[in-house]
Amino acid sequence: MFGADDRDSHDATPPGYVTGLACVEKGCREVLVIGMAPWGWHYTCANERCKGSLPAMPDGAPKGKPRTQKIQSHRALAHDAFDYLWKSGYCTRSAAYRWMAQVMDLKTKDAHIVMLTEKGCLRLARLVTEKGPGTSFWDRWPDKGKKAPE
Ligand SMILES: [Zn+2]
Repeated sequence: MFGADDRDSHDATPPGYVTGLACVEKGCREVLVIGMAPWGWHYTCANERCKGSLPAMPDGAPKGKPRTQKIQSHRALAHDAFDYLWKSGYCTRSAAYRWMAQVMDLKTKDAHIVMLTEKGCLRLARLVTEKGPGTSFWDRWPDKGKKAPE
């Protein structure tokens, strides 16, 4: 781990602040530095022309590993599609993850959106349409479980 750059050591930083996080945007070799936004701490790329960013916890610790904006937006899309299954009450949350493991040929422990590639995210969103509620696959799927309590 590298020390904080002089240019961002002027402000008080939160206890969870991590330095030396590499920006992973394509072609960027800068690091992510923490800043305070109206909604809380977050990391942005030291290169102002780069869109690299990473959300932070309330104590300033990074939320997950650095990832590109592109994969972040793909994962948000996949989450919206996937969460619809259990948030709309079609199945329980844990059943939704078992469904995901089955339709994507994953082990249950690997069935997490954070582990998906861009292609995997798009595939999951498509599968919600192709094998989700309203399809014969869903109707025949035996593992739906009871509706999650409100
Ligand atoms: Zn960057």
